[in-house]
Amino acid sequence: MSKRAYNFNAGPAALPLAVLERAQAEFVDFRDSGMSIMEMSHRGAIYESVHNEAQERLLSLLGNPKGYKVLFMQGGASTQFAMIPMNFISAGQVGSYVMTGSWADKAFKEAKLAGGAHVAATSADKKFLAIPELSTITAADNAAYLHVTSNETIEGTQYAEFPDSGSIPLIADMSSDILSRSFDVNQFGLIYAGAQKNLGPSGVTVVIAKEELIAESPSTIPTILRYDTHYKNNSLYNTPPSYSIYMVNEVLKWIEEQGGLAGIEAKNRDKAGLLYNHIDGSDGFFRGVAEPSSRSIMNVTFRMQSEDLEKQFVKAAELEGFVGLKGHRSVGGLRASIYNAVPYESVKALSDFMNHFQKTQG
Ligand code: PMP
Repeated sequence: MSKRAYNFNAGPAALPLAVLERAQAEFVDFRDSGMSIMEMSHRGAIYESVHNEAQERLLSLLGNPKGYKVLFMQGGASTQFAMIPMNFISAGQVGSYVMTGSWADKAFKEAKLAGGAHVAATSADKKFLAIPELSTITAADNAAYLHVTSNETIEGTQYAEFPDSGSIPLIADMSSDILSRSFDVNQFGLIYAGAQKNLGPSGVTVVIAKEELIAESPSTIPTILRYDTHYKNNSLYNTPPSYSIYMVNEVLKWIEEQGGLAGIEAKNRDKAGLLYNHIDGSDGFFRGVAEPSSRSIMNVTFRMQSEDLEKQFVKAAELEGFVGLKGHRSVGGLRASIYNAVPYESVKALSDFMNHFQKTQG
């Protein structure tokens, strides 16, 4: 087989090699059906067993919280930005948003269009390079929910702990750090994530929600955009992205094999520690972007002395098989996305390459 790249893409992103190989082995003839899982009815027993298995496995990895349902949806996290205010904000209410960066801002703007939005706290004064102090986060009195972005993919910041929203449901966009660490699902009313970073390929969006929140939606909303449609039909109201869901199930099996969330978290902390230590120990040749207390263990953002040097670095890295190190176009700089499936060896290779590059500049 050809050599695998050192893949630091921000999403779609690296998938575990073991999962790709398993999928390859089952690709043409799934469970002796004489066809690929892509070719079979989503109403048939074989597909439905995979669909249900993926839901059960996800809840089991999260400690089987009581009263929660997993939905498989389409339209990415971006569709959730719109669905959340449409489904949850009643007349006279707003959604309260913690403004931590680019993705929180996109979610906030959709709420402004579809109900009403309030800023519960912001780190704009810190150029979004830190998560606001939890004690400064205050939901509006008429808030239907408090919304957080657990990991800002572009800025490279992440909540170490989540705010206590009291009796107001806490909603989290976990697109770029879902299943990367242990956390208590019971704190949340609803969690959502596009699959294409930590859960599988693009095409499916995972929602984990308290059943009481999604069992009845306002009847004025179009059918497909109502949570209750997907809840009542076990995410089979219309044709689901069946292949993506199959892949999510395989990635979930792989996470179990890594020791579940505790096992994967230890590995992720090792990878992030290695990279941040390298950056901090480079005598200023590389500089971390996010404030240390808010650093993400998924998206490591860093800079060099000049944009020109950053360009040279990316180019030299590409020649050595490192992919995806350019920062997001809106902020520039450099970013290594080290999601669950990025092996420690890739991060070690990157750290060695950074060392080598620095020496050649001497
Ligand atoms: N939220 C976060 C934190 C993200 O990183 C992304 C994608 N990079 C999105 C939302 C948007 O997701 P999608 O492309 O699935 O709509």
